[in-house]
Amino acid sequence: MVRVVLLISMLIVSSIACMVSEESVTNHAGSSTTPSLLTNASLAVELTPVLVTPQSTEVPLIVKPTIPTPTPEIKAVPEEAKPTAVQKEVKTVSAPASPSWGEVITGTPPVYAAMDIDQSTIDLATKWYNVATDAWGNYGPTEIYIIGTDIEAARQIEDEFCDRHKKLDSGWKTEWDCANANYPLFTRYAKEGSAGVSTYNRDYLNYYFTTVSLSTQRPSPDEEDYKVVTMHEYFHVYQHAHISDTDVNGDKTGRENKSGGEGKPWFAEGTAEFFAQLLYSRQPGVRANYLEEIMTRKYTSSINGYLAYDKGLKDLSYADPVACSWGYECWFDTYGVGTWFIAYLVDQVGEETVRVDYYKDLDELGFEASFVKHFQKSSDEMVRDFDVFLSGGLNEALKILP
Ligand SMILES: [Zn+2]
Repeated sequence: MVRVVLLISMLIVSSIACMVSEESVTNHAGSSTTPSLLTNASLAVELTPVLVTPQSTEVPLIVKPTIPTPTPEIKAVPEEAKPTAVQKEVKTVSAPASPSWGEVITGTPPVYAAMDIDQSTIDLATKWYNVATDAWGNYGPTEIYIIGTDIEAARQIEDEFCDRHKKLDSGWKTEWDCANANYPLFTRYAKEGSAGVSTYNRDYLNYYFTTVSLSTQRPSPDEEDYKVVTMHEYFHVYQHAHISDTDVNGDKTGRENKSGGEGKPWFAEGTAEFFAQLLYSRQPGVRANYLEEIMTRKYTSSINGYLAYDKGLKDLSYADPVACSWGYECWFDTYGVGTWFIAYLVDQVGEETVRVDYYKDLDELGFEASFVKHFQKSSDEMVRDFDVFLSGGLNEALKILP
């Protein structure tokens, strides 16, 4: 059933693949990660009509994305706001008045929580979000949404999101950017659980930002995974902060290519999951064998199936086995294999080279050129070497973990 829905959704958005990072992640016990079937942005794209080409021949058919210009309507800068249970309205702050994509911000982004979320969940999410930003740098503008299981409460958050951004941005398009029956922006998290990141770097917007959506199901705040998922999602914010491409007429190709390929989760998910797990493993009080335990689980649930599959890592899409949850048959977990790929890459070239240096050059050089520059091999060669490495078995694989 889920696969059917997934395939249908893939068909609907066949011309414009889903954002790599606009997914959902880890399910119970951290053994696998789960892509959202219908992503915020992909749905937004579905609903986005093709813009009418200007009649004048002097106007280029595709307008180059412009640096977002602050408008008088922009009064608030979310990163200045303090997290509260429910922020009914955006607070007005003085400066900076010009939020730009991927800038380093200070403080915790605003947290917008549904009415059925208690303060302890807000505190937990905020704590682990901050662990991630302390380690990797704090990028924004970002808004954090915490959704419970009450659908009406999630709907209220959707309405507030819509109203807030209408006021904030004269370019905001209610019919495309606000939730509706076909675009369950936050209610989907109340229904399905999971977590995801959405980017609002679109040609018609003046105010670019990302959202981090966290639910209280799959995982729940009681689970250890909740902490890791929060950091995993923040790593997607970090990734996107290093990609300046603007969606033009709903086309996300530039952003997706820099993420590892259109609709290809291997690199973006591998980095998010590996660095989140690694960072978590280093936190005070976390058991010494945590990383080995998690990586063993990912190996045993994925590697044999992956090695026997007829597609290479880079070619795996959301139509292939992505995660071993959601009750459908699965041979392996693309997220898990991607996580092992990044573990291998980190062993080959070093943690900072992957997490910092590669991302610094990504926007200017593009995916492959930054890959070759920093990792000294093409991505195809690296994947081939990785496959050979995997065939050495679990015990050999575990030796490379930091
Ligand atoms: Zn992810």
